Amino acid sequence: MPEFASDIEIARAARKKPIQEIGARLGIPPEHLLPYGHDKAKVGQEFIAGLKDRPDGHLVLVTAINPTPAGEGKTTTTVGLGDGLAALGKNVAICIREASLGPCFGMKGGAAGGGHAQVVPMEDMNLHFTGDFHAITSAHNLLAAMLDNHVYWGNALDIDVRRVALRRVMDMNDRALRGIVTSLGGVANGFPRESGFDITVASEVMAILCLATDLSDLERRLGDIIVAWRRDRTPVYARDLKAEGAMTVLLKDAMQPNLVQTLENTPAFVHGGPFANIAHGCNSVMATTTALKLADFVVTEAGFGADLGAEKFFDIKCRKAGLKPAAAVVVATVRALKMNGGVAKADLGAENVDAVRAGCANLERHLNNVGRFGVPAVVAINHFTGDTEAEIAAVTDHVSQLGAKAVVCRHWADGSSGITDLASEVVALAEAGSADFTPLYPDEMPLFEKIETVAKKIYHAGDVTADAKVLNQLKEWEAQGYGHLPVCMAKTQYSFTTDPNHRGAPEGHVVPVREVRLSAGAGFVVAICGDIMTMPGLPSVPSAESIRLNDAGEVEGLF
Ligand code: ADP
Ligand code: MG
Repeated sequence: MPEFASDIEIARAARKKPIQEIGARLGIPPEHLLPYGHDKAKVGQEFIAGLKDRPDGHLVLVTAINPTPAGEGKTTTTVGLGDGLAALGKNVAICIREASLGPCFGMKGGAAGGGHAQVVPMEDMNLHFTGDFHAITSAHNLLAAMLDNHVYWGNALDIDVRRVALRRVMDMNDRALRGIVTSLGGVANGFPRESGFDITVASEVMAILCLATDLSDLERRLGDIIVAWRRDRTPVYARDLKAEGAMTVLLKDAMQPNLVQTLENTPAFVHGGPFANIAHGCNSVMATTTALKLADFVVTEAGFGADLGAEKFFDIKCRKAGLKPAAAVVVATVRALKMNGGVAKADLGAENVDAVRAGCANLERHLNNVGRFGVPAVVAINHFTGDTEAEIAAVTDHVSQLGAKAVVCRHWADGSSGITDLASEVVALAEAGSADFTPLYPDEMPLFEKIETVAKKIYHAGDVTADAKVLNQLKEWEAQGYGHLPVCMAKTQYSFTTDPNHRGAPEGHVVPVREVRLSAGAGFVVAICGDIMTMPGLPSVPSAESIRLNDAGEVEGLF
C-alpha cells in the first residue's frame, strides 16, 4: 500500500471479522443480531429491552474547536480513540452517526473517519447502508402525502393550507427542489400551494428517531409532530391525521442500532444522523444507551464545534436521555488553530507559531465551556503531517498553563498505536469519577432566557436580540405547554458569533434570533440565528462525477 493510501484503499484492505464475532465481543448472542450481509447487523429490539437493569459504562464525548471547512477529525478521533482503548484491553464500543448521500456526492469527505481510523465497510456506510435513511424518508413523506390527501378530501381538520409546516424530504443535495408548487394540473390534483424539499437529515422524523427511547416513545413523538396550523393558530398534529401508527411501522427496523467494526475490529454502532443546526447532531439515543449497557467505555461524537455540538449533546441528548458523560475530548488541529488565529485557508501550509498561539484562545474557550457542564476534558491534537514541532509545542504549553492536558494523536497515520496516550488519559479521567454532569439551564427557565443563557455563557455574547414576533411566538408556546423544552441553537459552526468569518474567541457580540421553530415531536425549540440551509446544493464539480465502479466491481472515487 502507498505511504499515503486514500481512505477507500485503506478501508478495502481491512481484515474484517464476521459481524457475529464483533457482536460476541459485546456479549450479543448471534440470534439477536440481524445480519445485513456479512459485515453489518442490526441489534434486536428484544435483546436491547432485556438490558435495562445492567449498569452503564463510561460515556466519553468527542467534540472540537471551531473547525476549518474540511472538519477537524472528530469522527477520525472518535474511531481512533475507540481502537486505542481497545488496545489498552478495555471493553469498548464506538457510537457515530450514519452518512447522508447529499454530502457524499457533493463535497469530498466521508463520514466513517479517515486514514487508519475508520469504520468499515466504509462504502456501505457512506451509501445506502442498512436503509435507515430510506425508511425515514418514506415515513416523513407518508405524513406529507396524508396531509395533502386530508385537505383534498374536504379538510375536516380545517388546516390552513397557507400555514403547512411540513415539507417533503429526500436524501440528496438538490437545490432545484428547495421551493416548489405542489398540486398543479387541475382539480383532480388538489389545491396548489407553495412547499419544498429538505434533505432527509433535516427531517424532524430523523431527530425523533435519534431521541426516542423505544418504539412506543417513537410512536408518541411522531404523533406530536406539528404539521400545520389552523386559521385560529392552533396546531394540527400528525396524530390528528392518524399517521403515527403507519410511520412507526415503516421505522421499526430503522429504530434498531446498526453494528459494524473499525479497521481494528472494535465494535462500532452507526445509527441515525440528524443535522447539527436545526437538530441536535448526535447519533441515536438507542445506540448510545445500548452501547453503555454492553461496554465499559463508549466513545461518541457530536457534530460541529463544541459551542454547538457539545452544548446540544449535553443540553438536549444527555438531559433527555438521562445520560451522564464521564469525560470529554476536545479535538484541535494546528491548521484550525491557525485559522482561528487569523490565517487564510490558502496559507495554512506555512508554519505560523504566532497564529497558533492566537488561535489557542478559541480552544481555551471551548475547554472552559465543556468544564461548565461538569465534565472533565482533555485536548487531542489530531496530528497532520505538515504540523511543526514549534506549532505543537505552542498548543501543549497553552493547554498546560490552563491546568489541562493536550495529547498529540497520530491515529490517522498509525491507528491505535498512535493514540494510546490519549486513551490512557481518558481512562484516568473517567475512572477518577470527577465528572458531575449538569445541564447549562434548568427545564423551568423561560424559552428566551434559555437562548440568552447559551448565547452569553457559551458564545460570550453581550446581547441577544429578537423581534416582538419571535418573543410573542415563544410566549405562545410556553402558554401551550412547551416552555419546559430545551432550545436547539442553529448558527454557523465556524464562529462563536453568527458571522462565519469572525473566528477566535470574540466577546460581547450580538446574537440575533431571526426565527424560532417548534419541533414538538423531537422535543426542542429551534432558535435560528443566521442563514440555515435545510436543502444543500451540489458544488460546481460534485464528487459524484468521479465515483464509479472499477473493473473488479469495487467502488472508486469515494474519498
Ligand atoms: P469531522 O468529524 O470533525 O467532521 P472527520 O473525522 O470526518 O472530521 O475528518 C475530516 C477529513 O479529514 C476526513 O477526510 C479525514 O480523512 C481527514 N483527516 C482527519 N484527520 C486527519 C489527519 N490527522 N491527517 C490527514 N487527514 C485527516
Ligand atoms: Mg464527523
